[in-house]
Amino acid sequence: MLQYYAQLERYEGNQALFDMTKMSIVSTIADEPLHIHAEGLRGTGKTTIMRKAKDILPNIVRIKGCLYNCDPSKPHCPNHKGKSAQEIAEIGVEAIPMPFIEISHSAKVGTVAGSIDLARLTDPTKPEAALLPGLIPQAHRGILFIDEINRLADTAPEITDILLDLMGTKPGTVQIEEAGLPVVSIRVNVSVWAASNPDEDPGPLEEIRRQLSDRFDMVCYMGRPTSIDVLAKMLKENFHTTKLNPDRDAMDLDAILKKHEEYTRTLVKWAEIYRDTDLPDFVRNYIARLYVKHNLESIRAIEAMQQGAVLYAIINERNQATNNDVTRMLPLILKHRVDSDTLIRVINDTEGKGPSMFSSGGKKTSSKTEEEDADYFKKEGRPLKDLKRKDLINTEKSIDFNRD
Ligand SMILES: [Zn+2]
Repeated sequence: MLQYYAQLERYEGNQALFDMTKMSIVSTIADEPLHIHAEGLRGTGKTTIMRKAKDILPNIVRIKGCLYNCDPSKPHCPNHKGKSAQEIAEIGVEAIPMPFIEISHSAKVGTVAGSIDLARLTDPTKPEAALLPGLIPQAHRGILFIDEINRLADTAPEITDILLDLMGTKPGTVQIEEAGLPVVSIRVNVSVWAASNPDEDPGPLEEIRRQLSDRFDMVCYMGRPTSIDVLAKMLKENFHTTKLNPDRDAMDLDAILKKHEEYTRTLVKWAEIYRDTDLPDFVRNYIARLYVKHNLESIRAIEAMQQGAVLYAIINERNQATNNDVTRMLPLILKHRVDSDTLIRVINDTEGKGPSMFSSGGKKTSSKTEEEDADYFKKEGRPLKDLKRKDLINTEKSIDFNRD
């Protein structure tokens, strides 16, 4: 059993999930949530990758002791909202690890959103009605993880409604309701990470609760591997004598922690770049055209293309996003919104024409990673919307000619 993030095996089949988690962490550090959902069979390691990402999260600075993780420069909680810089300086600040909080399926609304603080209400010396923030407000400026989100959407409609509110806007809100007290609405900036197995009951999230499915900016499907290399590698991984990579086994704790620090530093650096990076106009036009031409309907989808293209360029150490970055993001962004078989053909065809057609400089993606994507998203299509292949290619051509 692998203990640490640095020890996780990276191969073609899970690269997209590693990228997606990195993009979400970078965006979260920069105060802009990126909601991601990993779908896949049992044993593909999706929840392990997501849970172990906790190892490489940076610290955040909050007002000392604030359970709502108030940013000292913009306090938002009922206790600190409106306090002056001087008052906050008197309370003090502290660094804590960026929150990574998991919601279990048995969690009650009060636990998730918040409830009345019974300890303070029954305090014999100074009884008062105060709120105790739930798991979601406590995840502010961090990550909220939910395994088997499809099952949760099926069996816990009241928690699902809370998630819909939380993910409806960026930042989101959560309402704390308690009988006899006015409803309190708290701003929460949190990236929701979810995992599910769409091949098990109750089925894919988009068929259980379409609205919640669309709230996820990106979905990565860890499909049954079809390439011989990937399969051979997985077999080796799971074989008793080679279960652990000897190089990683040899890593001592110091080496692991050093590696984690390195990952964290890089994520923080990328977040700094992300804060100041805009999308070039021609890429924004390209996205807008995709939306109009293909009647994509979901504004969230094209917002995610914009956010995703910039983040993807940054984590690949390029300073400007191109149309090619948008193309790379299409499977993650449209997978749960259009027919996936069509999408795979579109991606393969556009990339088959060569990335130079759409790129305006910068590092090219290797053909190896493109093949890996093809393996990755190959699966039975679902009867959703249809995106016509010819239309997409025509659009890209015409944009390429017209762009400035
Ligand atoms: Zn506070």
